[in-house]
Amino acid sequence: MPDLDDLYQELILDHYRRPRNRGRLEDASGRAEGYNPLCGDRVTVFVKLDGDVVRDVKFEASGCAISTAAASLMSEAVRGKSLAEARALFRKFHGMVTGAQPPGNNGPELGKLEVFGGLNQYPARVKCATLAWHTLDAALENRHETVTTE
Ligand code: ZN
Repeated sequence: MPDLDDLYQELILDHYRRPRNRGRLEDASGRAEGYNPLCGDRVTVFVKLDGDVVRDVKFEASGCAISTAAASLMSEAVRGKSLAEARALFRKFHGMVTGAQPPGNNGPELGKLEVFGGLNQYPARVKCATLAWHTLDAALENRHETVTTE
């Protein structure tokens, strides 16, 4: 897949090689598993809610660089956010990577998450980047089914 080279930007590779917040949360208030059959990516997300604040997020992942880096960057982005803020971030991120909604100036700042902005050119890779977010969404509701991107 030679045309993917330019996607593997430094930040994505850095988070793939040294994922932040990787591991399990023994006192999680919610967890969910996600699977992207298109690429074989798997992720488990653990969250600890304190009222409606996401106090802690951890994850375990196996899969491609994009899926692991996306989980790492997601965990950094939503830690300390309210549920509403975390969901707004997901909506904006989803709109950006699918190309449905260019980021613009409305809503939350995407910050580092903008590194995935070029993915809307690669529909198959979009699922790698959104898997952790769909799984986060399920973990926040403590839904126990496996989330798939299909
Ligand atoms: Zn993948």
